[in-house]
Amino acid sequence: MDKLLVATRSKGKIREIRKLLGGVKCEVVFPDEIGIAYGGVEELIEDTDTYAGNAAAKAKYFARISGLPTLADDSGIEVDALDGRPGVFSRRYAAVTEHQDQANNRKMLEELAGVPRSGRTARYRCVVVYVPTPEGDPFVFEGTCDGRIMDSPDGEGGFGYDPIFYSADLDSSFGQATQEAKDAISHRGRAFQKFIEWMEKEGVGGGEEGAA
Ligand code: IMP
Repeated sequence: MDKLLVATRSKGKIREIRKLLGGVKCEVVFPDEIGIAYGGVEELIEDTDTYAGNAAAKAKYFARISGLPTLADDSGIEVDALDGRPGVFSRRYAAVTEHQDQANNRKMLEELAGVPRSGRTARYRCVVVYVPTPEGDPFVFEGTCDGRIMDSPDGEGGFGYDPIFYSADLDSSFGQATQEAKDAISHRGRAFQKFIEWMEKEGVGGGEEGAA
């Protein structure tokens, strides 16, 4: 394949995924770059209650309208004290607003008010789905990253819940971490690494292969 479409319009994800896929042999493109206008229905595509189901639906939708092999990821944060919520519903955890990330973080801190440090464990999860064609079987890759929810935001790097997510591996919040440090241990970094290793093993993406 010459081009790989990554089905996201999220600025935070695009920044990370560009770096994570920096070494692949094919050209990595995003919907806005190749003129796929926002059709107003994309939120409706993610209507399952699993990360893999949502990512597969998104990948197939964009593969169909672009004619390109397509990759999509779906991700979220699972907080133990909230019985795994918000999980697959992390993007719209708080009521929809213009400043969604800040509203989500505020709501999580409110829900966890009074919960001691030992009870604030959480993990990010990312599921990456690759579809060579809209009809083909999806290939699924998953990564997780353990941490805990802090008492207050710290740092302005990353996106989403990063300012309130503490990583013991980094001994800092993801909001304080450099992109390189986050990528090395993050759920998205791990899931994409699995995808890249699979591509190399299967010879996908080098421009020589057949259907994929
Ligand atoms: P989706 O994968 O586009 O459905 O979005 C999942 C939501 O989970 C994002 O909008 C963020 O709120 C959150 N999330 C997923 N990955 C990350 C991350 O790496 N940092 C911070 N928040 C994340």
